[in-house]
Amino acid sequence: MDSLMRFNILTIFPEAIAPYCEASIIGRAREKKVLDINIVNIRDFAADKHRKTDDEPFGGGPGMVMLAQPIYDCIASLKLPPEARVILTSPQGKPWTQALAKEFAAEENITIICGHYEGVDERVMPLVTDEISIGDYVLTGGELPALAMLDSIARMLPGVVGKAESVINETFFDGVSFDHPHYTRPADFRGMKVPEVLLNGNHKEIAAWRKQMAEEKRKKVRP
Ligand code: SAH
Repeated sequence: MDSLMRFNILTIFPEAIAPYCEASIIGRAREKKVLDINIVNIRDFAADKHRKTDDEPFGGGPGMVMLAQPIYDCIASLKLPPEARVILTSPQGKPWTQALAKEFAAEENITIICGHYEGVDERVMPLVTDEISIGDYVLTGGELPALAMLDSIARMLPGVVGKAESVINETFFDGVSFDHPHYTRPADFRGMKVPEVLLNGNHKEIAAWRKQMAEEKRKKVRP
């Protein structure tokens, strides 16, 4: 039997996470019990009666900072195994890559903290094993980064994506290579014809053509 991977996603906007986890390949992986996604509302761990999860920054400046206490109590409630990875989403983190997705796919328990507003109180760092960014741009919250990480990890788990080879020949599978262009029916779409080589049934020629196309594209986009 395939083992079950557990994700805990800590957020103050659980409604931004939930629908994505129910759709398509991720939804099916949950049904197949390959994946278990536990969406935790940080607000449920707020200590005061207004269920406050953020406050003004010490030292002044714009925006709000997420409180450390609800995040600490939220993590404590999960009773994580000592070796469990805890990711903090942050534009200042280590860049997320296919290689990291593969590394995390070997874990059994992954927790992701979604920041919001100006970010989280720095004193959350002792809880964090990995600070990760999904790219050099700033989003309003860590919800999209959490989903991007979850999605790229999940599709590496056995039985999630239909055929194992779909994940083997993909873009970045070896860190640099690109996938080849894909075509499906009809063979002639508005005068744009499928390359002849794909129709002749010669698998060696097809493989060589695909390799060449992938390499040309990679050189053009990532010289
Ligand atoms: N003041 C921060 C930005 C805060 S953005 C700064 O200038 O660095 C609010 C939250 O969104 C962050 O705490 C983080 O959780 C998330 N976030 C924004 N951009 C991100 C990115 N590129 N990768 C990962 N998380 C990101």
